[in-house]
Amino acid sequence: MKTQMRFKCNSRRPPFMAISIGFLAAATLMSAQERKVTRLTDGVYEIEHAAHAGGNTTVIIGDRQVFVVDSCFLPSAAREDISQIREWTDKPVSFVLNTHFHNDHNFGNRVYMDAFPALTIIAHVETKKDMDMFGPGSLMREEKDSYGNRQILETMLKTGTINGRALTENEKTEVEDMLARQPVVIEELRKVKFQSATLTFDHDFSIDVGNREIQVKFLGRGNTPGDAVVYLPKEKIAVVGDLVVYPIPNMIDGFPVEWIQTLQNVAQLDADTIVPGHGPVMHDKSYIYLVRDLMKSAVDQVNEKLRQTAPAMFQTLDEIKGGVDLSPFRQRFAGNDKDLGEAFDDVSSRLVKLVYEEASSR
Ligand SMILES: [Zn+2]
Repeated sequence: MKTQMRFKCNSRRPPFMAISIGFLAAATLMSAQERKVTRLTDGVYEIEHAAHAGGNTTVIIGDRQVFVVDSCFLPSAAREDISQIREWTDKPVSFVLNTHFHNDHNFGNRVYMDAFPALTIIAHVETKKDMDMFGPGSLMREEKDSYGNRQILETMLKTGTINGRALTENEKTEVEDMLARQPVVIEELRKVKFQSATLTFDHDFSIDVGNREIQVKFLGRGNTPGDAVVYLPKEKIAVVGDLVVYPIPNMIDGFPVEWIQTLQNVAQLDADTIVPGHGPVMHDKSYIYLVRDLMKSAVDQVNEKLRQTAPAMFQTLDEIKGGVDLSPFRQRFAGNDKDLGEAFDDVSSRLVKLVYEEASSR
């Protein structure tokens, strides 16, 4: 699972088998996203990248040092961020913290290290393990998937259809954009090597970067085995990585049963500003609770089905799927937006698959 592409994470494009209506709907939705900077408080900024450039970056400036959360994916985007940081402050970036191993949050590490040679790159010990395993293959995977995806995307354009239905104008534009972006991304990756973390932690620690305390916490597994959360107690800001992705959660892999509790732990932080892994800054916890409730519903329904029938190991995914209905959440996530609705359907069926796989391994 971990080596696969995901529409927003790991490498932001799925293996060509996974180009589905839901995937294309999500890609179309996100293609409108432009780079955007939000000032969270004096000296703390969120940078929301264009979707293909990677996840959110948060910049925390102290009196002595700068602490950056996630270095995004495209080296050119990381360079643009560093130029912007240098406009904000003459203090060096001393730390980059990677919230998890998906390379849309850490492929820019090398660019930061080149710019700030004394840099320390921090990750949870499990995150570093996965970064070391999957990070160096990023270019190879991009090239391989690029080849497979290109054939599928070109066929879509030629036939004007996806899975037997006509492509919308927006989808057609997104397919064309994806085809145009592929060689640019490959070329960028060829020029920069993957840089893993240089310092690990396994539970939590705090650091003062100069009149600014930063706490780094492991609140449990969720999106990956080593999700880190960054918390500024004085400013009441929490940076939560892909434990929370807006507007549709990222659930290609992960640990839904534990993720529910981890989200509960995140929600208990005394924070009034929450930076998700993708999407705009949030000022309340309602979306966190919504994601938690979606996962809880999936887990409860799968468990109920297993109780009534047989342990998961004696059942197929299709048998389980029939007994799980997540449609009550569709409206709450997607409203009446057709693209969001299709992306939600895609993610909810992946969620049920994850829950089934977790139950099968018990
Ligand atoms: Zn991500």
